[in-house]
Amino acid sequence: MFVNWDDMQSRVVNTLQALVRFDTTNPPGNETPCAAYVRDRLASEGIAATVLEPAPGRGCVIARLKGDGSEQPMLLLSHLDVVAVEPEAWTHPPFSGDIVDGYLWGRGSIDCKALTAIELELFLLLKRLMVPLKRDVILAATADEEAGGSNGVGWLVQHRFDLLDAEYAINEGGGLGVRMGNRWVFGIQTAEKGICWVKLRARGEPGHGSRPWGESAVAKLAAAVDRLARARLPQHRVATVEAYIHTLGAVLPPSEGKAVLGLLDPAMEEEALKQLPDQSLAPVLYASLHNTATPTILRAGQKVNVIPSVAEAEVDCRILPDQTADSAIAEMRERVGHDIEIEVTRSSPGVESAYDTPLFDTIREVICELEPESIVVPNMVAGGTDGRYLVAKGVKVYGLRPSKMVPGEPSMFALIHSHNERISLDNLGFGTRVLWEVIRRTCS
Ligand SMILES: [Zn+2]
Repeated sequence: MFVNWDDMQSRVVNTLQALVRFDTTNPPGNETPCAAYVRDRLASEGIAATVLEPAPGRGCVIARLKGDGSEQPMLLLSHLDVVAVEPEAWTHPPFSGDIVDGYLWGRGSIDCKALTAIELELFLLLKRLMVPLKRDVILAATADEEAGGSNGVGWLVQHRFDLLDAEYAINEGGGLGVRMGNRWVFGIQTAEKGICWVKLRARGEPGHGSRPWGESAVAKLAAAVDRLARARLPQHRVATVEAYIHTLGAVLPPSEGKAVLGLLDPAMEEEALKQLPDQSLAPVLYASLHNTATPTILRAGQKVNVIPSVAEAEVDCRILPDQTADSAIAEMRERVGHDIEIEVTRSSPGVESAYDTPLFDTIREVICELEPESIVVPNMVAGGTDGRYLVAKGVKVYGLRPSKMVPGEPSMFALIHSHNERISLDNLGFGTRVLWEVIRRTCS
């Protein structure tokens, strides 16, 4: 099957530019015009797509190419909404889609419209080449992922799961190749952490700011927040993470490999993190071995001369797949003390998909053909994705938007949700090639 990859890359680039130019900042999201663009692109090549709105303006677009039914469907999932920007901090306007020095700039260019563009173009290519399919291929680009997905995949799974039901889903969150030793190591996301967002509340005697006495709510809360922010919570291991670290330990040169394996020894972990050859991996690996609790919002007081009786902090706590909200609260309780109230505002468990599957083997095979001697390992992401709704329904979800973190180029970890988000055209091309082969081999 002949595919002109230069042509495919420019199609993906043009589509990504078009997608980035829709401002789908969530809140409010307003994804419908962007979803309608995807629907119209599909319609122009004879594919009927539906735009569903879980809430007004929150468009999700879904389409299906029919297979012969001999195998269960494969879902190509992505989300259309993006996180907020501070435009004045950007070198190129965040909704411009400008191409500068081989990079396409814009909010969503990595997270997650690159995947939408690739999946849409490959879906169209399957149709154009009339590839005979043994399973349905479903395309879904949805709303509201960045705010938890209740107006996107969460709603769809609850009300129209028939539209998404599949054996496998390809989603955001993985596929990044990192250079280690003299090889590429690609992490395919098979697990993700859950959340346990909490409010910490301290109470104290109110009074006049001119006559401080005893410990105020503000001081108690500040001390608790400080202890929590500095805490290293206990190490826990999940299968995906152990497999990832063991693989790295085996492929790196012996001295570096030893440092990486040291991560699994709680007594050596702190030192091992400092020894990692690529320091940008340290926070990622740390987060994959621990529940984390990050204070993000502080709230107390109305007037400078009034001592408030209540002070509150909100904490973004992320839990490992084998942990619960209760076990995470117990870990936080030990740090903040018994004088602080802990209220859970939102929680959902982490998830893990099996990776001893034909699809995982195909992903490994394809990546190693394009990038010989690569190592392909299951991986866990510290953040959450919409994948968790599908894993809960029995879908095996793999985070796979293949790309390479070329040494010396800006780190994708640093660009996601940050200023100056941008993606290299080379990575768009690479991701397109890998995903095409993975989809073609798995579905035809
Ligand atoms: Zn995303």
